[in-house]
Amino acid sequence: MIKGYIDELFEFNNLSDEKLLYILENIDEDSKEYLIEKSHETRMRTYGNKVFMRGLIEFTNYCKKNCEYCGIQGKNKNADRYRLTYDQIMECAVIGDRLGYKTYVLQGGEDPYFTDERMIEIIRGIKEMFPNNAITLSLGERSYDSYKKMFDAGADRYLLRHETASKELYEWLHPGEIFGDRIKCLYNLKEIGYQFGAGFMVGLPRQTKRDLVKDLRFVKEIEPHMCGIGPFIPQKETSLGEYPAGTLEDTVIMLALVRLLLPNVLLPATTALGSIDKLGREKGIKAGGNVVMPNLSPTNVREKYALYDGKICTGDEAAECRKCIERRINNAGFEVAITRGDNVKWSHDNPDVKQYDEQQVSINSILGF
Ligand code: SAH
Repeated sequence: MIKGYIDELFEFNNLSDEKLLYILENIDEDSKEYLIEKSHETRMRTYGNKVFMRGLIEFTNYCKKNCEYCGIQGKNKNADRYRLTYDQIMECAVIGDRLGYKTYVLQGGEDPYFTDERMIEIIRGIKEMFPNNAITLSLGERSYDSYKKMFDAGADRYLLRHETASKELYEWLHPGEIFGDRIKCLYNLKEIGYQFGAGFMVGLPRQTKRDLVKDLRFVKEIEPHMCGIGPFIPQKETSLGEYPAGTLEDTVIMLALVRLLLPNVLLPATTALGSIDKLGREKGIKAGGNVVMPNLSPTNVREKYALYDGKICTGDEAAECRKCIERRINNAGFEVAITRGDNVKWSHDNPDVKQYDEQQVSINSILGF
């Protein structure tokens, strides 16, 4: 029966909640392999064997929020706080472009220092140097007005994971926050015209399979251009530090299901997945993932962006990360694409946006391979 459900999902890119729940509750090794096969087939149709890279710049770990799972929560007195300067961010952008990253992800805690004015200056600074590179922001919840101003300044994409689509679980994990506010932000981003990303953690404390079905239904409904999915990993300074981490298996299953529900979605094989298993990212790519986000932050701040314990790549130089990631992608049987890596459906609707041609940028010559 389970393979029949997977076939239905493969064919129609949709499945009832009951059937999705049935898959989550009954999947075994054999049907998991089948699911991954179907997910792979779907991504080959939409993106082929290409994997897109994003240079991740973790530019501040100051945060006014108190997400219970997150190591940079404002109430964590032991977090060693930092902010990158304008010049440091520009330097990351230059290094990133040289390494073949045509998209930057500027991610940080919710840091009031980075007002709209400061963000606009940063966005314009990068776009002046590299007009063809895409800028993705991941700064948490802000007003419609703020999102709009940054979009008008040139930001292309915005990542805001919904974290969990269960209101009850969300509000337990985010004391004092309102689930609806986060969801409203996503609809605002969509309306403004960003390529926007939702996403969730797998294996959160108290999370049930029914909650995961809610995540699947939510992403199917809101249809994000990107969807970040990673395992929950405990961080010792937080109140959830003693809970077990989410598993590779469960995360891979969720990646494959999301690929089947949203064939065009950009789906990262996340750092968190690579942190719970040495081959986590490779397995994520094989299950339908088509994005990786190597770290581009200066090495001396990497350890401070400690969202969870055991985060990988905190000691490597950007160029090392670049080589390592390409090797991993190739070993998994895929190829790196030196492009902005826009969502295929979005690209179709925006034919004017210039895509770098891979031939133009010979990354091997840059890195001296
Ligand atoms: N302030 C931004 C960026 C948050 S950090 C925002 O609110 O969107 C990026 C993501 O890291 C979060 O959305 C969350 O899903 C993930 N994350 C945080 N703590 C984590 C943990 N302990 N385990 C796994 N992922 C975590």
